[in-house]
Amino acid sequence: MPDNNGNNQNNNDDDEYEKYCYLCRRPESEAGPFIRMPGNMYICNDCMQKSFDSFNNGAMQFLDLSKMPNINMSQFMPFDDIPTSQKVKKKKKQKEEKEQKPLTMADVPAPHKIKAMLDEYVVGQEYAKRAMSVAVYNHYKRVITDTMDDIEIEKSNMLMLGPTGCGKTYLVQTIAKILQVPLAITDATTLTEAGYIGDDVESILSKLLAVADNDVEKAERGIVFIDEIDKIAKKKETRSRDVSGESVQQGLLKILEGAEVEVPVGSGSKNAMTPMTTMNTRNILFICGGAFPDIEDIIKQRLNKQSSMGFAADLKDKYDKNDNLIKEVTTEDLREFGMIPEFLGRLPVLFTLDSLDKDMYIKILKEPKNAILKQYKKLLALDEVDLEFDDSAYEAIAEKAMEKKTGARALRAIIEKFMMDIMYEIPRDDNIGRVTITGDYINGKGAPIIELRGTNI
Ligand code: ADP
Repeated sequence: MPDNNGNNQNNNDDDEYEKYCYLCRRPESEAGPFIRMPGNMYICNDCMQKSFDSFNNGAMQFLDLSKMPNINMSQFMPFDDIPTSQKVKKKKKQKEEKEQKPLTMADVPAPHKIKAMLDEYVVGQEYAKRAMSVAVYNHYKRVITDTMDDIEIEKSNMLMLGPTGCGKTYLVQTIAKILQVPLAITDATTLTEAGYIGDDVESILSKLLAVADNDVEKAERGIVFIDEIDKIAKKKETRSRDVSGESVQQGLLKILEGAEVEVPVGSGSKNAMTPMTTMNTRNILFICGGAFPDIEDIIKQRLNKQSSMGFAADLKDKYDKNDNLIKEVTTEDLREFGMIPEFLGRLPVLFTLDSLDKDMYIKILKEPKNAILKQYKKLLALDEVDLEFDDSAYEAIAEKAMEKKTGARALRAIIEKFMMDIMYEIPRDDNIGRVTITGDYINGKGAPIIELRGTNI
């Protein structure tokens, strides 16, 4: 809201956020101290000098604003127009930084501790949890000790393969929570080559910056998860320009490895009015994930080719029956799938996740610290009602979820559907002390078992 002087009242924030030169749009940290003009307009020394030069050269001698009456500059120059969401927070001064305690080795638990914390939330996926714990530990060790540039060790960017709903995103979210670093989740299908309709690769960094409250330093230590990475595989036999496949992979190369990138602040797209800032991606951890459908066929083909002629037929059968063929994946298979070698080279940590079986579904229902059924139990406990599930109920929910073929994501939808009735009906009757959900109830063949308070509880 402008006040009587035409100044914006959100000036309280001014100390925290960067000011921008009205003419060249550079922040004060880049362009040097600004000159404040009427109407909350700031101009950097360079632009001011250029303006003087053009005046002196006679270009604007006819225009002397000082002689014009009643000109209120702020009327036609709403200079403080950049919303807070598009401003970059100022870099903290050294002293302040120390007070704020930057990330230290004490904040990064050892791999076995990271794995133990992951175990509390994520069921199964043992190998993936181990691989991630080690990679994340190594990554942040190098960020903290500032040894990221040592060429001997590669950056720990990761590529994980696994069917939909098996916990890829969930693993990354849990890791970011453990380390308390900002996390941006993005979908590779929305990306296109710069200049085409869709998001440029820089938009990923804009997202990370927004999650980090526009604090560049914080964002530069964050994690980026790019999902559906298999969707930007190189198209086979294309005659047209491959703007959303190979070119996007090419575009990602520079940010994956570490580069200074100009990033639009507060919006995914670049245009003349969007303030820009520079982000260094050297310390950002990139994790890519995808289902890579039918990659098993490529793996099978390779393995068959490798086996000696005499045993080929025998081995072919063996591979056909192997459900876990995806574990054999190599970068060679991924190249065959359509990922370019330079891209794969920048994701050195490669691992697969298991598809979920019935036991895992049941464990997901029961075990994680924030398991959805535990949440409902707690909610009903507030009404002093004991919510129980018998074994047949767990099995029925798991079976229903498996039919949907969307992984553990299906569980929530199934549970919410039947729990809505329970949550509606139970608080009606104060006498109800315990509700037991059965398999029959889940399958629509019966009612839950209701026990009244003070009887048989
Ligand atoms: P995707 O592999 O497609 O990224 P998600 O990680 O988004 O799948 O999984 C969807 C939801 O299913 C998660 O939010 C989480 O609640 C649950 N989930 C999936 N896999 C697991 C698992 N292994 N352990 C615990 N919960 C899981």
